[in-house]
Amino acid sequence: MELRRYRADLHIHTCLSPCGELEMFPRAVVGKARAMGLDIIAVTDHNSAENAAAVEEAATGTGLTVFPGLELTTEEEAHILGLFDPGTDLGPLLAAVYENLPDLPSKRSFIEDQVIVDAEDGVTGFHPRCLIGATRFSVYEAVGLIHKYGGLAIASHIDREAFSIISQLGFIPSDLALDAVEVSPLLRFDEARAAFGPLSPLPLVRFSDAHRSEEIGRATMDFLLAEPRLEEVRRALAGRDGRESRPS
Ligand SMILES: [Zn+2]
Ligand SMILES: [Zn+2]
Repeated sequence: MELRRYRADLHIHTCLSPCGELEMFPRAVVGKARAMGLDIIAVTDHNSAENAAAVEEAATGTGLTVFPGLELTTEEEAHILGLFDPGTDLGPLLAAVYENLPDLPSKRSFIEDQVIVDAEDGVTGFHPRCLIGATRFSVYEAVGLIHKYGGLAIASHIDREAFSIISQLGFIPSDLALDAVEVSPLLRFDEARAAFGPLSPLPLVRFSDAHRSEEIGRATMDFLLAEPRLEEVRRALAGRDGRESRPS
């Protein structure tokens, strides 16, 4: 099968994330991703994935591939990205997450920042739980849960001084079965490699962590793949079978 380059930004929030701007509706996300020349994006809201299908649907016919995903907050307050193949039924995974997400007394104004939408940007509801909180999953349980549903587990923005596995644990446990580690767009890739390469043998990626439309595509990876599927990205991260992964 012929390999081609796919430009990917696999860390994008929507209006469901309380810290994500309300402008991050499906059609806006898809439009900006296309304008930035992206081939693959992942929708990764905090502790939820309820807008992922709407973004997938909004991208139908545009040539853009959308991986559903989420960004779990572990009990240590480390963020871990879970990325899945298009069409994956994440219902059982989300049920497990919500069971382990403390039901904090939620202020009405807060809930109104957690907007659930359809593919035509229609508001269909507001998420009743406080999605920004920490789940009861340890980093090990979070990675295990993501793998149980066939996903890739990536430690988020490990250079950040909060909500990263290094800020919270002080190191990357060598027995934690991560598929990659991500650095934030604040860091250049060569700087990231110099800083974090010695700490971990895991593949390094850099994505936008977009919370606003103009941030989409500000940091991307170019993957050499046979098709835009998660298994291909897994092989690219591992540098297997001629697949490659490099910063754009
Ligand atoms: Zn994060
Ligand atoms: Zn994020």
